[in-house]
Amino acid sequence: MADATIYHATVFPLRHITVPGMTIYNAIRNGIFESVAEDRLDREPLETLKWLAYEKWENQNKDLPPFQCPHCASDSATLTYDAERGPCPSCGEEILLTDMLGFHLAMAQDSAPDSIASEYIMIHETLLLFTGIRHFWENKPELLRQCLFLKDGPLAIRAQYSKLVAPIRRFIESAKDKGIEVCILGQEKSGAFFDHLALIGPSAPSPMLFVPGHNYIREEIQHRPAAGAPYGFDTNYGAKVFAKVNERHQAVLNIPTGAYNSDPAVSDLVGAARIFATLPSLLSSRYEGGLFPIELAHNIASLSTYPSAKVLAMFAEAHS
Ligand SMILES: [Zn+2]
Repeated sequence: MADATIYHATVFPLRHITVPGMTIYNAIRNGIFESVAEDRLDREPLETLKWLAYEKWENQNKDLPPFQCPHCASDSATLTYDAERGPCPSCGEEILLTDMLGFHLAMAQDSAPDSIASEYIMIHETLLLFTGIRHFWENKPELLRQCLFLKDGPLAIRAQYSKLVAPIRRFIESAKDKGIEVCILGQEKSGAFFDHLALIGPSAPSPMLFVPGHNYIREEIQHRPAAGAPYGFDTNYGAKVFAKVNERHQAVLNIPTGAYNSDPAVSDLVGAARIFATLPSLLSSRYEGGLFPIELAHNIASLSTYPSAKVLAMFAEAHS
């Protein structure tokens, strides 16, 4: 695991910093692009962003779906197929592929909220996850049948950053149509679903799988009326699954369904049979509900083995 680890670190001017000749707004826009296009990762996350944004698995040479221009705020900003940057069709100013993600919608010219950093992590994690999937897809798609991709956290992208959710769903659906189940498993270890499992888990039989639908989630978990938009329609590429494997292990899992499904059954979860057959062998004996590969990755990624001072030194070297 240590030999296979990929590290990524970046820095954004969020507080008490100015960038000569540039507004904070543009410095962060450029920083996000450069970070995704980082040479140390061979620009792979950027290639993955292009693969998802232009839906390259379809070979249809689609332009980028329109988004809000970071300069003139027109809703018709787009880039031609495969472009990483180009002029806005309305104002002619340069837009970057990463602008489609919508970070600029959360920033003012001279300041940016701290949440930019956590949203960036969320996007970068998603790009790394799909970099692995893309590599198999492009080189040996049949091997995807034997892989399980694990993500620590939900299979979801929040708020305006959710532009990648629809293409991700379309990819998984399109792979399924070609007879390839892309098995992805996310695990939530905090939040409303985790708390809800703590409530219902102890009295549930084991083994037990429960896939809550729209009404149950709205009323029993979010305590909101069920009327309104289907749960997770814009933001989630995995359905929520409550799993009690045995009396010691229960977990909140996320598994894609491909196309959106507001009330999925277990059989709608992509790769369900294989994932649930594999799950008992992944359980950690150290933590309740813990998955061993995620625990191993945590050990490697913990700050004690990758001190923040070293991160900053490497950043300074790379940009000096
Ligand atoms: Zn514009």
